Amino acid sequence: MNLNNLNRVNLQTGLIDGHVHLSEIEHPEKAVENAVRAGVKQMVAVAMNLDSCRKTLVLADRFPDTVLPAIGYHPWSIKAEEVEDTLIFITQNIHRCVALGEVGLDYKVKVKKKLQKAAFSKLLNLAVKSNKPVIIHSRFSYQRTYEMAVGAGVEKAVFHWYSGPVDILDNIVASGFFVSATPALAYSPHHQAAMARAPLDRILIETDAPVQYGDRVSEPADLTETLFHLSRIKKMPEDKLAGIVTKNAERFFGL
Ligand SMILES: [Zn+2]
Repeated sequence: MNLNNLNRVNLQTGLIDGHVHLSEIEHPEKAVENAVRAGVKQMVAVAMNLDSCRKTLVLADRFPDTVLPAIGYHPWSIKAEEVEDTLIFITQNIHRCVALGEVGLDYKVKVKKKLQKAAFSKLLNLAVKSNKPVIIHSRFSYQRTYEMAVGAGVEKAVFHWYSGPVDILDNIVASGFFVSATPALAYSPHHQAAMARAPLDRILIETDAPVQYGDRVSEPADLTETLFHLSRIKKMPEDKLAGIVTKNAERFFGL
């Protein structure tokens, strides 16, 4: 795939990257600069563990107009001996953030399901209590993450990079939740099918940078790639689509 077509369209509205691991990017300052040049006006920086929660908050302080922080505990990062300290930090700092994330379940990693579910459950309760939207990782755990979000009484959730079954997608949408699209739209049939089916008013766009798509490490400037592929799937011009997904992100994150 081609990730080099930056500034392909002159957008009326700036874009919002709904999910980037800015703390994992080698040169975050440069990445922010490139993104702004490509038409990305804001980005939601998510976190994985205690270390990246701290780094994410520092980056948000450094770029207060552009970087909106989210803190969380990614299922890949969960370690029994670190759960307590991580949850305490998140509880104490969530008020500084636009969302809780990245949190969720991943049934393909070795971290024990019981441990994942216990942490996710506490995090969902925190989101409800602090009235924050939740950014959910649901790989191979689509049904369970959905049930847990509904069970906890979560009102705002985005199932990030959703590539699961379409019947669960229909339930996600019926519950008022969102899904988000990544540059994997270029090649992933499951992700394409989900985005073709999801209603336009429930889609956010993101990069999940620095995830590697094809042979290239991504950065938030590649959000234009997500927009490009989504516009093909939705058969809608990029500038019009940009206006819609940016409004969605503003509504979802309360900007
Ligand atoms: Zn992520």
